Amino acid sequence: MAENRRDSTAAQAVYDIIVIGSGPSGYTAAIYAARANLRTLVIQGEQTGGQLMITSDVENYPGFEDGILGPDMMDKFEAQARRFGAEMIARDVVKVDFTQQPFQIWIESGTTEPQYRARAVIISTGASAKWLGLPNEQRLQGRGVSGCATCDGPFFRNRELAVVGGGDTAMEEALFLTKYASQVHLLHRRDSFRASKIMQKRAYENPKITIHTNTGVDDVLGENAVEGVRIHDLKTGAAETLPVQGFFVAIGHQPNTGIFKGILDMDEVGYLKTREWTMTNIPGVFAAGDVVDHRYRQAVTAAGDGCRAAIDAERWLEAQGEVNTADVMDPGEWGTARAVVPGGSENA
Ligand code: NDP
Repeated sequence: MAENRRDSTAAQAVYDIIVIGSGPSGYTAAIYAARANLRTLVIQGEQTGGQLMITSDVENYPGFEDGILGPDMMDKFEAQARRFGAEMIARDVVKVDFTQQPFQIWIESGTTEPQYRARAVIISTGASAKWLGLPNEQRLQGRGVSGCATCDGPFFRNRELAVVGGGDTAMEEALFLTKYASQVHLLHRRDSFRASKIMQKRAYENPKITIHTNTGVDDVLGENAVEGVRIHDLKTGAAETLPVQGFFVAIGHQPNTGIFKGILDMDEVGYLKTREWTMTNIPGVFAAGDVVDHRYRQAVTAAGDGCRAAIDAERWLEAQGEVNTADVMDPGEWGTARAVVPGGSENA
């Protein structure tokens, strides 16, 4: 009931900025926007917090010298955004209309009227790691099953590990993991690779990497932590169990952009394309974090992106106010407008 009342009240208002998504980039955008006195709503998604919610320790985010659990870190981000007045709602966006100002956003399907309106929108819906769908894969996530070698590699010193995939990500993760692991098994379902020749060469030449081609993965084993992986040869059917303690799935990511198809420019995989700084092809709609970035995919880079998007949105809004509140501007016209952050310097 309380949620419904809040929805109907909020529906009458036009937010300055609505942030869609609640990982590091979404919350950072909200911190900056709300702190700049912009009326800000974060539509967090039903699963709040993004990919860090399925991570255990985060040891490489500056400022947490002893590390921090991914979910705890996201709680802190959220609390910091709330402190400056950002509102939150843990619902999924089901539809957007960016053809008119203010932009319109639906969290309910089947209603003509949008539930929310905003003068600017920041999209931080992130990307989801693809998983194999093995019986025990999800249960052992954060206990040896990982989708990010950069994040979790250092927890596996002198351990035997497996990486699944045949693209550049799999090669890169396998090579990265050799810094820590005693041995890395690269498991690929075919006998040729999508990965670039140079990455393949490096993997084949690395004495710590054993490449298993034509290999199917049946399951990852272990009660409370990964203790092995069961595989079979796709040509002969011969099965074996590798005694690994870490299992890295590197079969690609899927950006969460389904609702923006046909509306925002994206590449062939679905990552959003920005035109100028963080602005998309629609003036007033910005994108930040993993939904744009398939290269770095780190909490700290996503947070940095969220900051950039909020500053861009703030400057764009201010430029709209200075020029004409009804019309939107071309991307090239707004970049020089200065942002004013109350009580601080421009980029504080
Ligand atoms: P890719 O789509 O290139 O590769 C995915 C790999 O996972 C493929 O080998 C695919 O096998 C395998 N795979 C997919 N689904 C399954 C499944 N269900 N079971 C088993 N295997 C599966 O994704 P990447 O993340 O590797 O790369 C994405 C893009 O990013 C690429 O363009 C890549 O070049 C780029 N990139 C560049 C880097 C760099 O330049 N340093 C680093 C990392 C990525 P199959 O081949 O049989 O389809």
